[in-house]
Amino acid sequence: MVQFTKLRLAGFKSFVDPVDLLVEPGVTGIVGPNGCGKSNLVEALRWVMGESSAKRMRGGEMDDVIFAGTASRPARNLAQVMVHLDNSDRRAPAMFNQHDELEVTRTIERGSGSTYKVNGREVRARDVQLLFADAATGAHSTALVSQGRVGALINARPTDRRALLEEAAGITGLHNRRHEAELRLRAAETNLERLDDVIATLEQQLRGLKKQARQATRYRNIAGQIRRTEALALHLEAEVAKAAYGAEPKIVIERIRLISSA
Ligand code: ATP
Repeated sequence: MVQFTKLRLAGFKSFVDPVDLLVEPGVTGIVGPNGCGKSNLVEALRWVMGESSAKRMRGGEMDDVIFAGTASRPARNLAQVMVHLDNSDRRAPAMFNQHDELEVTRTIERGSGSTYKVNGREVRARDVQLLFADAATGAHSTALVSQGRVGALINARPTDRRALLEEAAGITGLHNRRHEAELRLRAAETNLERLDDVIATLEQQLRGLKKQARQATRYRNIAGQIRRTEALALHLEAEVAKAAYGAEPKIVIERIRLISSA
């Protein structure tokens, strides 16, 4: 089980100035009057774990999580939430498991979308989601019980309740991986289909080339035969010329004619 040790917010919703929330051993409570930002804190935690729905962040678009300004303070263009995790028991996915402590940061810039970093290194949203899913938590974790959630869980359809059981069984990470594996499989299938097309085209080309090769061989054989026949004819002409050396020119011409028409 992953242990959160610190949450830092800057420019996120009502937390315009950087704020550190320490999560000490035991129970950490946040107390305050209505509208002071308690839910914003829980939302910050859900957001840094990879929440992708602006609606679930009580906004119209994701940029709405950036401090929108008040009468006395201008709006910001950047919001950042960082969560500090204790990984001393080394149970994070392999790509993050070389560190005792993990610092997961999500930053959003107005109009440019979100970026994620783990210990300063940029990673994909999916990597962060998987990190928390493996730890049986995440943006949609049933461990985050916000206002109205208990009633919703009681009235949930069996298929929705399944998520709760899967999380308790610690297989949420496997579920996410299966989804990713299915996407990869589909991509591989598309590649295979494209390969089949390429193979069919190449086979057609091969058939054409084989035909051309056969014609070239035939041409070579016939050209050889022609050369040999011509050489023979010349040889015979030379023999006749030699035999007729000193004979009557008319007889020589007759013999040559005989050879040529043979
Ligand atoms: P309650 O106890 O009534 O549920 P709460 O303590 O959970 O309240 P939140 O709902 O977390 O309070 O905070 C709401 C406050 O956050 C509102 O005052 C709202 O104006 C402010 N707020 C929300 N989004 C932004 C934003 N993008 N920029 C500035 N302030 C914001």
